[in-house]
Amino acid sequence: MKILTLLLMTLAACNSAPKKNAAVPYTGDTCIVMDSKLGSMGDPIVKVYDGREVKFCCEPCVEEFEADPEFYFAELDKRGK
Ligand SMILES: [Zn+2]
Repeated sequence: MKILTLLLMTLAACNSAPKKNAAVPYTGDTCIVMDSKLGSMGDPIVKVYDGREVKFCCEPCVEEFEADPEFYFAELDKRGK
């Protein structure tokens, strides 16, 4: 019986956790780092940081972003919704 209680508690904890796909969608169709059109250099790269979706035109931009995410999130906020 003890195991069942533990299992139910685990399930309840899972249900209350935020959904993984509830990320804030990325607005705009340009790369946050280079401001180039997404898709102009191949398939855009989509990543989620802190529940926010971010799209990049190429892999080096991802590295650029990850070197200073706060700066780029500020840029993202400046763009508006
Ligand atoms: Zn790029």
